Amino acid sequence: MTQHPHTDVPAMDAYWMPFTANRQFKKNPRLLARAEGMHYWTADGRQILDGVAGLWCVNAGHGRPRIVRAIQEQAAEMDYAPPFQMGHPKAFELAERVAALAPAGLNRVFFTNSGSEAVETALKIALAYHRSRGEASRTRLIGRERGYHGVNFGGISVGGMVANRKMFGSLLSGVDHIRHTHDPARNAYSRGQPPHGVELADDIERLVALHDASTIAAVIVEPVAGSTGVLIPPIGYLQRLRELCDKHGILLIFDEVITGFGRTGSPFAAQTFGVTPDLMTLAKGITNGCVPMGAVLASQKIHDTFMGGPEHLIELFHGYTYSAHPLACAAGLATLDTYAEEGLLSRAATLQETFADALHTLREAPHVIDIRNIGLVGGIELAPRPGEPGKRAFEVFLDCYERGLLIRTTGDTIALSPPLIIEPAHIGQIVETLGAALRRVA
Ligand code: PMP
Repeated sequence: MTQHPHTDVPAMDAYWMPFTANRQFKKNPRLLARAEGMHYWTADGRQILDGVAGLWCVNAGHGRPRIVRAIQEQAAEMDYAPPFQMGHPKAFELAERVAALAPAGLNRVFFTNSGSEAVETALKIALAYHRSRGEASRTRLIGRERGYHGVNFGGISVGGMVANRKMFGSLLSGVDHIRHTHDPARNAYSRGQPPHGVELADDIERLVALHDASTIAAVIVEPVAGSTGVLIPPIGYLQRLRELCDKHGILLIFDEVITGFGRTGSPFAAQTFGVTPDLMTLAKGITNGCVPMGAVLASQKIHDTFMGGPEHLIELFHGYTYSAHPLACAAGLATLDTYAEEGLLSRAATLQETFADALHTLREAPHVIDIRNIGLVGGIELAPRPGEPGKRAFEVFLDCYERGLLIRTTGDTIALSPPLIIEPAHIGQIVETLGAALRRVA
């Protein structure tokens, strides 16, 4: 094998890494080789505590034997099954199981292979739904500033991260954005839902006044924005969005790719916050991150709107070669069994106060300007270094990694979303390591 000139690792020229500073990485590679429970081990044998569940996805912790076995057995039994005009039992079983966890009324499941694909699928279902009902003028989509909905064209159009948008042309037309809910002036150091900002949902009324409701198909938001800095919805905000969507016949889509499968203390954030959307996107925790899979949950009303034509006709011209892939379905079923047996989908509610108490001890650490949390997700925002946005947090990330802790940063916010099997001692270790890294970087 060709070797990297400076380290005991393979040559690194060919792999163009996603969302990575490639040149910097290849000078100082961070290679993971093994994972079990709450930990990774690096290629050179160091143990790393996983503070982000891989990438917000390994909710039951790493290397769960039951999930591993299910994938192995499925691969041996049937590697692949075409999902168009054909099916296999585990796809139906997994759909039933996911629907059973969801808020009442969201009982139809369309499988994809990622969160990004789930978002595209949900947007297309929303547009096609209105057209099927004879309201073809409803084509506009509303997203939110600082929204993250994956990286495909629909997702970056409704998303609100400038770096993900600015290099890629004009994107989808007919998209507006309501304001984000980050309001450190009024909500700094909130625990759980911040008190202020419900009125931000009224931006929907302004867009209705501008465009008319008859042109608007859907509003998409993450109940808790994850990748743009862990923004917890203010009290009453999601309820207000729901009311306004109902009032104007607009579909409400929750992107629960991060919040799904127990992150906020319920199976879905919709349940934590008591607001049911019309469509919900899922991914990540659906298979514990083991096999790529995403899904869209749709209300029966939306689903049934498509079911009126002649029976032999395909109702929705959409799908992926790997929709409901047998390996993903097998992994998904074993994952849901694991969550159920170990009570993991409510564990974040149990640990929320312990987690919050620990995080908020970092309040006095250098450069910390805000800490926010709900369930087992937390954000620690740092003051940016003048002229170098994001650099300070990235240095904390590198320092934590050297100290044996994996975190994630977005801009100058450190994001934490540990596996739901976390124990209080791990929480203590996360906060202690972060504190040391923050002091070092200062
Ligand atoms: N939506 C949200 C809210 C996400 O956080 C992510 C990924 N972090 C996505 C969509 C995209 O998912 P994927 O990377 O699986 O395409």
